[in-house]
Order: sequence, then C-alpha cells, then structure tokens
Amino acid sequence: MIKHHPSSTLIAAHAAGELSTALSSAISAHCELCDQCQQLRRDAESELAFAIFAEPATPASTTMFAELCHNITELPTAAAEVAQTSRYVCINNHNYRLPNALQHAKLQPWQRFGPISRMRFELEQTDGVRMSLLHMAAGGQIPHHTHQGQEFTLVLAGSFADEDGHYQQGDIILRNGQHQHSPQSDEGCLCLTVVDAPLHFTKGLSQVLNLFGQSLY
Ligand SMILES: [Zn+2]
Repeated sequence: MIKHHPSSTLIAAHAAGELSTALSSAISAHCELCDQCQQLRRDAESELAFAIFAEPATPASTTMFAELCHNITELPTAAAEVAQTSRYVCINNHNYRLPNALQHAKLQPWQRFGPISRMRFELEQTDGVRMSLLHMAAGGQIPHHTHQGQEFTLVLAGSFADEDGHYQQGDIILRNGQHQHSPQSDEGCLCLTVVDAPLHFTKGLSQVLNLFGQSLY
C-alpha cells in the first residue's frame, strides 16, 4: 500500500500545468499507481474547468476550454496507443515497464557506479533539473548524504529504506537540504528521480564521494 504521496498543493500545481516537465512526469507516474492522487488530480482539473466556465467568455478562455475538452477526449486514444507500444528498460536481466507518462521520453544508456545504475532522461527544458531512472541492486546502498536542492524519488519497483522509513512501489518521497540519509535496498529497486542539484556526501571519503554525487545528479 502506498504511504507517501505528493502534497495536494503539488497536485494542484501539476493540474494547472505549473510544474517542470520532469516533476510533472513524476507526479503523473505516481498517479498511475495511486487511485487517491488520481482522483485529487481529476478534482483539481474539474475545478480549473469550472473556473474557466465561471469567467466571462473571452476569445482566450474559449480557446482554453476548447483545448481542455480536446485533451480530455484525446486521453483514451493516447492510452490505447501507449498500451500497444509498451516500452521497457532492462537492467540486471530484468525488464521494467516504463510508466505511461514516460513511454515516449528519450533515454540515455545506463551508467553504472557499483551497485547503483543510472539512466538519464533527455529533457528539452531543464532549468538545472535532471530526471533519471536509478536502479539499486539487491543489497546496494548510497552513502550518507544530504541535498543541495530538492530530490523527488518515486519507487517504480522493489523497495528501499532510509533512516526515516521504508518505501515501496508508488511511494513518492521529497528530500532537501534539511534531510540526511543513506538509502539502502535489501531486494533491489528501480526509482524515478527528479533532482535540481548534486547530492552532497557528508561522511567518510566525502571528497571522493562528492565526485560520485556529481555523477549521480
Ligand atoms: Zn498518491
């Protein structure tokens, strides 16, 4: 059962199209796994549609409403196309299906750092934001670190734990400079991460590890 969800503010911003492509994709991917947040998103979209209705009609609002209707009616077709062209990524002889929100995203090859493998998405608009698939092999661990910016992690498969909890498929976790943690996975996991600054390692060989943090970002 999913225990960690995006905030309602974040879902409202997502529905209003105010988030970066990367973060929006992560929220959409979470909603595919979470009925509760999918409903919150629908409610937020309905409220926006009503708000457009409530305003006196102007050429701009009429166009917006027409676009919204078009997008809604297009959805089932888009979903059907996705179902026909399911895309998987393969790591350690295991195939993982990409969420619908990421089926058409451009991906770079896997890069391996010991038990951690990262596959970066090619984003058109980055603003310093990077989106990646992060795979942790069974028994893998990321050394103790904090964040210079924000880090969103969505568990797509498997599970991992840190000092604050245990996270499984569908959980979305936000970490920033206020958190220090060392994620580890007993069974292995595949996560979608959206970060806007490199990790900052705080213990052990931190100078060496911070080069690794630049690579993981
Ligand atoms: Zn949720």
